[in-house]
Amino acid sequence: MSTIKGAKWVINDLKKKGFEAYIVGGAVRDHILRIPLTDIDITTNAKPHEVSKIFRTKPTGLKYGTVTVFMNEETYEVTTFRVDGEYQDGRHPDNVTFAETAEEDVKRRDFTINGLLMNEKNEIIDYVGGKNDIHAKIIRTIGNPLDRFNEDALRIMRAFYFQSKLGFQIDAATRDAIYESRLRLKEVAMERILNEIIKMLQGTHVKRAIQSIVTTKVHEVLPGLEKGFLYTLKLDEMPYVDAFFALSFTLHGSVPTEWPFSNKHKHRYEVASMLAKKHQDFDPYTLYTYGIDLCLLANRVNFMLGKSKNLKTKIELDYENLPIQSDLDLKLRATEIMKLTNKKAGSWLKNLQTEMVIEVLNRRLKNEKSALEAYVLEHVKE
Ligand code: ATP
Ligand code: MG
Repeated sequence: MSTIKGAKWVINDLKKKGFEAYIVGGAVRDHILRIPLTDIDITTNAKPHEVSKIFRTKPTGLKYGTVTVFMNEETYEVTTFRVDGEYQDGRHPDNVTFAETAEEDVKRRDFTINGLLMNEKNEIIDYVGGKNDIHAKIIRTIGNPLDRFNEDALRIMRAFYFQSKLGFQIDAATRDAIYESRLRLKEVAMERILNEIIKMLQGTHVKRAIQSIVTTKVHEVLPGLEKGFLYTLKLDEMPYVDAFFALSFTLHGSVPTEWPFSNKHKHRYEVASMLAKKHQDFDPYTLYTYGIDLCLLANRVNFMLGKSKNLKTKIELDYENLPIQSDLDLKLRATEIMKLTNKKAGSWLKNLQTEMVIEVLNRRLKNEKSALEAYVLEHVKE
């Protein structure tokens, strides 16, 4: 968390030491738009080691000229004026080239709406035409769009993210350049692309962004998401992050290995998609085996695909009413079964427990110690 007021203290302290400093980028944009700020970036001609002498800091990205400044419990990213972009050809530059002026610094930034400066007196300094574009609600690259997308194709995905967040239009020349440069996305680290897609899916104007993704044919270069993006456009309600990926990978048939999902998420999308294909309805054993979250997600997918009703309430109720939710809930423990049968552990034990779980779930066997004991004695042969 950080505030404009705190950022001004940081700026004033830098100025007292003879440096220049401004709030820059997203914070200025969101301040003008009067929408909540996420983080505040400050740009300055002070070098990282000079910033560290003035404030309590953490070296966040020293190589790129960034230090985090702590000021009254809040943090500010303070970056030295630079000429090169965040990344070149989709890769980290080995080292950065510092710039002399704030003007050079803003001209390396992605979009005009992200290239504004604000000083400690709330005055906006605009070297890129960003003020007009904010008022006209336009996303436009700073400088020649083809050059800017060639430098870093991630900016393509960032354009969609900002469209989703702000509901702005993408300027025609910028949009044409996105179409022209779309194959360059293959050179960008998948992790960075995924990050922007996830941010995009959380915006208020997702549908507009997805419409642009499809118009510029960018959906065709995002592995496994092509059908998902096309299908989503037909829906009234836009799916949230998990539902979008589960829907896309169900339509695609698998989770492409290119995406750096955590194992947990990869598993989640694989199982939800398997369940969506196999089940319209979720019987007690499926609910018990896969848990409520995956069954709800699979039903969301089928609901979006028009293959099933929205069963959210029913699934929640059915899950709540399961006689047991885990084999630990069985009123007869494995050790007790072994004692009762006088047998050592083995695969028979796991199989027997599974049978009992199924019988209990289907309410053919009561989850009571005496009933379970009787079942064991009846079913285990010498
Ligand atoms: P938000 O934080 O609301 O998502 P933001 O504009 O602050 O939006 P960040 O990703 O935090 O976006 O980046 C901060 C600033 O750094 C941007 O406003 C932009 O000026 C610059 N920037 C970020 N990524 C790039 C890029 N790939 N190419 C050029 N400039 C960039
Ligand atoms: Mg930001």
